Amino acid sequence: MKIRFTLLVSVAVAALAASPAHSANMSSTKPSSLASDAAYCPPGDQKSACGLPSKVVIDMSKAAVKRTDAEWRERLTPEQYRVARKQGTEPPFRNEYWNNHADGVYFCVGCDTPLFDSRTKFDSGTGWPSFYQPLEKSFVGEERDVSYGMVRVESHCAVCGSHLGHVFEDGPKPTGMRYCINSASLKFMPRAEYDQWTVARSPKAK
Ligand SMILES: [Zn+2]
Repeated sequence: MKIRFTLLVSVAVAALAASPAHSANMSSTKPSSLASDAAYCPPGDQKSACGLPSKVVIDMSKAAVKRTDAEWRERLTPEQYRVARKQGTEPPFRNEYWNNHADGVYFCVGCDTPLFDSRTKFDSGTGWPSFYQPLEKSFVGEERDVSYGMVRVESHCAVCGSHLGHVFEDGPKPTGMRYCINSASLKFMPRAEYDQWTVARSPKAK
């Protein structure tokens, strides 16, 4: 497990290192203070804060992976593009992963960075895939979102800026956090395939 984590971090560090400004961006992020004023999002409430799109402007000048709008449209389906690049929100209970209980890892749809492990996924009752923590905290950026008269914490991929969802402080132990994520922003990889993925990208394999 420790070896796998080390490999994972080395992959991510390589990706993040592609942008000189990125480390500065990460060090200035304060998720805990941002999350403290997040609106409460009761499980099962489809009109809750989770269900609204986000109006946060993500500073793409600090993202390691950059694509033109045409490239994003070519890479993503229209629904993925709407959610991940235009900060949209998919409907609850009618998305790919809300009820997925398979063992594996969820990658960013925009840049193939591993973001969430199924071992931290839980049934929140909201109809969206929910996790109590990211696979690696530095992979997931957060921004204060004051749209729709609420104060929420928007969540996005730190490598490519793709919108993921929102973060709330009503999650289960051990973190107490709930990452309410759109399936359209994720790509699931089964555990066995993920194990091969990490080995293939380890420094020794190159
Ligand atoms: Zn990404």
